Amino acid sequence: MQYSRLFGPVHSRRLGRSLGIDLVPFKTCTYNCVYCECGPTTVESIERGEFFPIREVLAELRDYLSGSPELDFITFSGSGEPTLSSSIGEVIRFLKDSYPSYRIAVLTNGSLFWRPDVRGELLPADVILPTLSSVFDDTFRQIHRPAPGISAMQIVEGLECFRKEYTGQIWLEIFVIPGINTRPEELDGLRAAIERIHPDRVQLNTLDRPGSEDWVQPASPEELERIRGLLGLTGVEAVEPVRYELSAGSTMTGEWSDAVARVHELIRRRPCTLDDISASTDLPRREILKILREIQAGSIIEEKREERGIFYFCPE
Ligand code: SF4
Repeated sequence: MQYSRLFGPVHSRRLGRSLGIDLVPFKTCTYNCVYCECGPTTVESIERGEFFPIREVLAELRDYLSGSPELDFITFSGSGEPTLSSSIGEVIRFLKDSYPSYRIAVLTNGSLFWRPDVRGELLPADVILPTLSSVFDDTFRQIHRPAPGISAMQIVEGLECFRKEYTGQIWLEIFVIPGINTRPEELDGLRAAIERIHPDRVQLNTLDRPGSEDWVQPASPEELERIRGLLGLTGVEAVEPVRYELSAGSTMTGEWSDAVARVHELIRRRPCTLDDISASTDLPRREILKILREIQAGSIIEEKREERGIFYFCPE
């Protein structure tokens, strides 16, 4: 079966081996973040909707999970904000009822947590990973370029409400952009917000792949450590850079066309190095190069060199 709403499993820095579920069209989001690895937002909105028939999403999940794959998480993420999908609650409940051994994570920007329906739909998930990068509207707008009607304090208040209702884990991401949200007053504001939200973990994240805007630079490990010290709270950690242990002897299994489709799905959603693709698909690098050439025959693939190597991606 060819999957259109599932992708991966990907090797996620924060979640390990993670099967992705993408419930929104590329690239529909409430934000247009300067660091977004999926590129600029094409539909920016806070209107929720059912973007794909839920029966198709459930059929893909039944098919994929029938093989009992080993996964650390099934994760709602992809090429936009997953809580824009009004189907998310139903898909989470389906997974919890039918496949209770899998842990469910939701990667969200947290912008719709002011809505009681969104908070209620996420309650059965195991881990929620929202983002908060500034409590000041000027900085918040500079980083996230949100749809009209979203403010920084709305995010804090929504997450504070959610914490009171939710018994699972909240891993709060702070996306660090040197020179933008690293001043002392920014960190003081973030510390106060963290104390209101009471997340189980705070993860300092920074650019790992090419972002939407070229001026965005990653923070060094030393800078992240400095911020961790200045925040002075327990449970704050820097997200480790990606590390792979690739099995040199991995070989192609399954249909070639399936492998091509899997690689295409990965690089359509975010830029990936050969190692990223290999870790997600277990394909050897030489086969991936052949697959990239095959994809290139019918679609445009762009390359961008960054510190971690050459990233391949399909511009939409
Ligand atoms: S980083 Fe996430 S929240 Fe920001 S624009 Fe991209 S998909 Fe949306």
